[in-house]
Amino acid sequence: MYPAKFDYHRPSSVQEAVSLLQANPDAKVLAGGHSLLPAMKLRLAQPAALVDIGRIPGLSGVSLADGRLRIGPLTTHAELASSELVRQHCPLLAEAAGVIGDRQVRHRGTIGGNLVHADPASDLPAVVVALDGVLHLTGPGGERQVSAADFFVDLLTTDIQPGELLTAIEVSTLGAGSGSCYLKFEHPASGYAVCGAAAIVQLDGSGRCSGARLALNGVSVKPVDAGAVTGALVGQALDDATIDQAVDAHLSIQDPMGDIYASEEYRQALARSYAKQALKLARDRARG
Ligand SMILES: Cc1cc2nc3c(=O)[nH]c(=O)nc-3n(C[C@H](O)[C@H](O)[C@H](O)COP(=O)(O)OP(=O)(O)OC[C@H]3O[C@@H](n4cnc5c(N)ncnc54)[C@H](O)[C@@H]3O)c2cc1C
Repeated sequence: MYPAKFDYHRPSSVQEAVSLLQANPDAKVLAGGHSLLPAMKLRLAQPAALVDIGRIPGLSGVSLADGRLRIGPLTTHAELASSELVRQHCPLLAEAAGVIGDRQVRHRGTIGGNLVHADPASDLPAVVVALDGVLHLTGPGGERQVSAADFFVDLLTTDIQPGELLTAIEVSTLGAGSGSCYLKFEHPASGYAVCGAAAIVQLDGSGRCSGARLALNGVSVKPVDAGAVTGALVGQALDDATIDQAVDAHLSIQDPMGDIYASEEYRQALARSYAKQALKLARDRARG
């Protein structure tokens, strides 16, 4: 399995990468290569050129500013899973990154590639939606920001425009009284999510829910933002029955996916079960 012929460029700045993408409309950005290269070898993708962003300074690493984490797109899953900053301020992201694929995938795959590829079975899209993520894009027209909720458009399709580069991802941090959980039912061969649930629960001083987020991977063509479920939890004392009832009454999945491994009905049943379990674990962690 050899890819079709392509040109190779290795820019040293974001501006140079954007110029190369503008000059080569059939070019693709190369990050960790763990989705793009298999697709090229199978001839599912035949870019005329690759723009390898791996040596551009400043596109990797995590920093904390104004209560938000800012993450470079080239940060690998292994770096996210082991980062003290991420583990302390955004344990949901560290937990999800730590269950991606296997050790090799986690050391090559990047958060930027994972989000732009937008595989419905990937782990990070729903996590970034639950964390009210904002994606920073730089293109020929300058810089713009898109919320994670608007970034994922369809199967393997995002809002990224021709010539644009994802240059940073910003996510919320979790404060005192909050707990989070990422739980997935993984495909036994690949480790990809057949269903993944990302949950955040915030409790007030009396133990009632003062805020919650829930998003799901794997069950639809793009992440499912289950705002109706979490809306029903706010103000409630979160016993198991309340969580079960909120999920049963309010979790609705538009265009559920089905395939030879897991039917639409099975995925919907998984979604209900994993949503409940993830919310309960997030609640338990918020209680400390
Ligand atoms: C065997 C195997 C198992 C895996 N298991 C899992 C799993 O369990 N869960 C999971 O979530 N993922 C899994 N993955 C995917 C992996 O986690 C990678 O995140 C994913 O392949 C893409 O990241 P990458 O850095 O390799 O991107 P690449 O393959 O280099 O790029 C992917 C796409 O994103 C574009 N792109 C990349 N970076 C940018 C950028 N900064 N700006 C604009 N466009 C960009 C590329 O042009 C390309 O279209 C698995 C992969 C393999 C091979």
